[in-house]
Amino acid sequence: MRAALRDDEVMSTHSTPSLDFVEVYKNAGKAFGLIERYRTPPFPGTYALWYAYVSGLDSELVKRIDEFLAKNGGLNPYDIEQLCQSLEAPGARENAAHNVGKAVEEELEGILKVIAAGAERSDSFSNTLSDVQKSLPGPKTSEALDAIVSQLVQENQRMADATRQMNDSLVASQSQIQTLNQELASARIQSLRDPLTSLWNRRAFDKRIIEEVMEAEASGQQLCLAMADLDAFKAVNDTYGHQHGDTVLRRFASLIGDNIKGQDMVARYGGEEFAIIFPKTSVLSAYNLLVKIKHQFEELKTPVDDQEGTFTTSTASFGVARFEMGMTVSDLINQADTYLFEAKKAGRNRVKAIGFA
Ligand code: GH3
Ligand code: MG
Ligand code: MG
Repeated sequence: MRAALRDDEVMSTHSTPSLDFVEVYKNAGKAFGLIERYRTPPFPGTYALWYAYVSGLDSELVKRIDEFLAKNGGLNPYDIEQLCQSLEAPGARENAAHNVGKAVEEELEGILKVIAAGAERSDSFSNTLSDVQKSLPGPKTSEALDAIVSQLVQENQRMADATRQMNDSLVASQSQIQTLNQELASARIQSLRDPLTSLWNRRAFDKRIIEEVMEAEASGQQLCLAMADLDAFKAVNDTYGHQHGDTVLRRFASLIGDNIKGQDMVARYGGEEFAIIFPKTSVLSAYNLLVKIKHQFEELKTPVDDQEGTFTTSTASFGVARFEMGMTVSDLINQADTYLFEAKKAGRNRVKAIGFA
């Protein structure tokens, strides 16, 4: 049983008293409802957009969203991108989404505490009435007393029923809020993932590479970075369609994911380009692993949908850089790009690494 909160403690759970938490909670629920209804991806950007929509503060935005909904019956990723850009200044989008998410999370936490305190008070009220009921004298004292007792008993019963109903609805709200919190946490993780391949995205990579360069600089341990790019990939799209291209991209991503281990990280750097971080790894080990991946990929046959018995194969080129003391993150990325370019120039489908032919 949670300890009951005093009123001043309940108030202190709200970091921004001017914010109406009941309103925030309602809007958060509505925003999640719209994500589900229009099947838009549950990412912070989309969430921020629906949240702004239901809060109705920006009438211009509401009007634009209504127009998209009336025209297309939903929002596609391109509409969302456009709306997000008009919603906030460039670059502010992630921050705004993060802030909204944070505010909702804080408010939801506050509501959970209020609910716990309310449930506690309801319990104790019900107990008090029960005690009074038990301690009242028996019905034989006098007729008048009988009437009072009977009235009190009825009153007690009524209050107990009301208390039970309130507790039930509080428990239901509590579980709904916990679900919202979980959805928010999962949206945060999604914001670091690439939706097509499920690999880490560029944002996650940018953060991690900074940490690894700092770690290598401080510890003197080895660190390698590889850039991989699919060869002649435009032709794959042009010949077999974008969807087939997507399948090839996903399969290449899984192949790298299956081959790396431990602290290694693979991210989709952009388009058909991938970055692989190899902490505490020599350039020779990274090189050997990438050659293995390269071979496996060139052997991989991808069936073409609706063309029974037709497969495509693709290849990829790789450039590997090695961290040296004093190098910055962009030095490291530039070096990996330089070797990737060498691999392309030398005919593609190969790995070029610093210190190797
Ligand atoms: P190179 O060997 O020099 O790398 O040639 P390339 O054709 O791979 O390079 P180019 O930069 O000319 O074309 C890259 C292609 O990758 C064009 C673009 O349509 C495709 N691409 C980028 N992202 C995606 C994606 O998410 N899905 C699909 N299907 N194709 C993508
Ligand atoms: Mg390419
Ligand atoms: Mg490319």
